[in-house]
Amino acid sequence: MSRVFNFSAGPATLPESVLRKAGEEILDWHGSGMSVMEMSHRGAEYTSIIEKAETDLRELMGIPDNYSVLFLQGGASSQFAMVPLNLLRGHSKADYINTGSWSKKAIAEAKRYCEVNVPATAENENFTWIPTQDQLDLDPQAAYCHITSNNTIFGTEFPYTPDTGDVPLVADMSSDILSRPIDVSKYGVIYAGAQKNIGPSGVTIVIIRNDLIGHAVDWCPTMFDYKTHADTKSLYNTPPTYSIYIAGLVFQWLKEQGGLEGMEQINRRKAGKLYDAIDGSDFYHSPVRPQDRSLMNVPFTLSNPDLDKTFLAEAEEKGLVALKGHRSVGGMRASIYNAMPEEGVDALIAFMHDFEKRNA
Ligand code: PMP
Repeated sequence: MSRVFNFSAGPATLPESVLRKAGEEILDWHGSGMSVMEMSHRGAEYTSIIEKAETDLRELMGIPDNYSVLFLQGGASSQFAMVPLNLLRGHSKADYINTGSWSKKAIAEAKRYCEVNVPATAENENFTWIPTQDQLDLDPQAAYCHITSNNTIFGTEFPYTPDTGDVPLVADMSSDILSRPIDVSKYGVIYAGAQKNIGPSGVTIVIIRNDLIGHAVDWCPTMFDYKTHADTKSLYNTPPTYSIYIAGLVFQWLKEQGGLEGMEQINRRKAGKLYDAIDGSDFYHSPVRPQDRSLMNVPFTLSNPDLDKTFLAEAEEKGLVALKGHRSVGGMRASIYNAMPEEGVDALIAFMHDFEKRNA
């Protein structure tokens, strides 16, 4: 067996030890004689799995007691609708900071339900930067302010938490949740699809301040009302049981890495050396303003785009896969989420140096 270094933006690489453990437990979870996939979501065994996952996530992120943790389905994309359906609370408008394609999707969905004000947009320079606090034209009447904390496609990340005063801050953290410590109490809602830093696709995590639950519009579908899931501990209907189980194993793995403080150190080191390699050469180029660069998704271009195909093919031969950039940026993108080992980044940098020597 040989595993590659998988730089995919998501679904993305998972910690090898987590996959091994899941493998060991696949036929018989803890003497139950069955796979987690086969268990009733209401049985004692599964209850212990989902409860442990929540407890570990709360510990890792320091989630205060007045917040609920929900394990939902429908991906982050469903949150683009759930957020306005639940958070408008009689208001007619919401703020959406526009920092990329996912922000735009969230905006387009919100426009079905309310007026959208855009306090700042980075679209003019192809989303290569993040607006600063003093550039935000916030509306104090907004029901909430929505941000995409990390822009998976463009490789930018908020280097600060916007101060929105009394207006609840809502963050799509799909691609940087758990990558570093954050102060959850600064947010009204945090949501994230799992398939980058949490586990397999299929589960979407929502962390919501309790006073924001229970205000859905009266025609809100039952499944789209946060209260439905908060009241039933995410067991209103069958949750994505196996995805939650793997997420739980990832949370345990994160604790072994020194929690989010430990993870941040590792992530800063990994991203730091990759950006240094890009900046230290005329052959490679990062399109992103240095202070706004993502620790998770690192887009870069070659000075000669005719070499893109050769770069990707040769990288793949070396076991460095899924490096093709998103079509809206071009070039390459290395997604280096928590589970990408530092050796993977080192191998990529070594390949980049070698490729440059042979092609510059
Ligand atoms: N938001 C961000 C920042 C993303 O990166 C993605 C997925 N790449 C989404 C939302 C959409 O997530 P999902 O596929 O879980 O709906």
